[in-house]
Amino acid sequence: MRAEIISIGTELLLGEIIDTNAAWLAQQLAASGVDVYFRTTVGDNVARIATAIQIGLGRADVIITTGGLGPTVDDMTREAVARAVGVPLTLSDELVEQVRAHFAKWGRTMSGNNVKQAYIPLGATPIENPVGTAPCFIVNHDGHFVFVLPGVPREMKFLTESRVLPWLRERMGENGSIILSKILRTCAIGESQVDEKIADLETESNPTVGLAAHAGQTDVRITAKAATRAEAEKLIAEMEARVRERLGDWIYGVGDESVEQVIARLLTARQKSLAIAESNTGGRLAERLGATPEALKITSKLLQVTDDQVTKAYADQVANALRASGGADIALAIVSTMGNQDMYLTDTGKTWIAIATSDNLKSYSYPVGGMGESAQTWTAVRALDILRRALL
Ligand code: ATP
Repeated sequence: MRAEIISIGTELLLGEIIDTNAAWLAQQLAASGVDVYFRTTVGDNVARIATAIQIGLGRADVIITTGGLGPTVDDMTREAVARAVGVPLTLSDELVEQVRAHFAKWGRTMSGNNVKQAYIPLGATPIENPVGTAPCFIVNHDGHFVFVLPGVPREMKFLTESRVLPWLRERMGENGSIILSKILRTCAIGESQVDEKIADLETESNPTVGLAAHAGQTDVRITAKAATRAEAEKLIAEMEARVRERLGDWIYGVGDESVEQVIARLLTARQKSLAIAESNTGGRLAERLGATPEALKITSKLLQVTDDQVTKAYADQVANALRASGGADIALAIVSTMGNQDMYLTDTGKTWIAIATSDNLKSYSYPVGGMGESAQTWTAVRALDILRRALL
């Protein structure tokens, strides 16, 4: 079964609000085994909404639209759907009653504009909306269906869960399948390096393997489609083993766990205290470690360092002194040059990171440093990765 999502609203098109509806819907559809190949965003314009629906009807079994069902002139979805399937709008007595009842429940009276909301394309089936006033409906166009849902996320979610998904599952019947995903998280390794190691796996089709890069972090998403959850899990486990063989301990965790949470967990489990000092990083490392919920024994310092102090010797000296003076089990020092201020430039400056434990002192250098957003994020992530490895 193929579905297509059409998000309607000029404010979505202009980026004034983020289209969280489409992201949520896509996740729900994937989890129900429905393929989504296209998502469209279209502004409040009848002709263009109608065109988007017609295009969708040509390539999908089911279209789900959200938004544009309100009572005002810029709410045009009803009219556009009618135009797309070539039928007139008619007043649905059932929907008039629904809207009236909803208003009555809140002690308000229905205005003339609200009656406009009860017009739906001829032949459409109304869907009861107990959580809002925007009436919804389904249109059957030669065996292709259009679900027309409100834009308000709470209402859209309720109707999807209570009406759309059960309908889809019933129609898919025995042919139904589920799509499961698992995300393996890596950090301090660039997307292109990850890609080099697993490029061949990324061309396979079930499971699929895809990459998503964020600053300092690359996620590997494994997605499998199968008739049952158990089969999908098995496919994922097999692919996960192959990915892990290639990426080894670059993978710090799975799912939603952040690298700082992993560090917090390891510090607690090993009963270790940590002291950190950092220069020209905007305090990023402390900020990230501070964001972990666990009670940690972490002390942090901001250092003032001149560019000629950015050496291995100085980083080692700071880490050793920090460990000795603070009595921490592990001390990590970052000394970084002021570098370039341009947030988009990362390849300037220099950084040394030293980590001192009871029996070891190690230091690492990077050709990046300074006040840029990306440089600071990468430096903090590299330090987090060094800490994680020291704790493993
Ligand atoms: P109502 O009749 O209740 O106003 P509607 O179907 O007309 O519902 P819209 O007017 O298009 O919905 O949107 C209502 C509000 O819902 C928007 O102002 C926005 O805050 C939110 N919204 C709409 N579409 C989306 C979307 N795709 N993602 C996230 N929020 C959305």
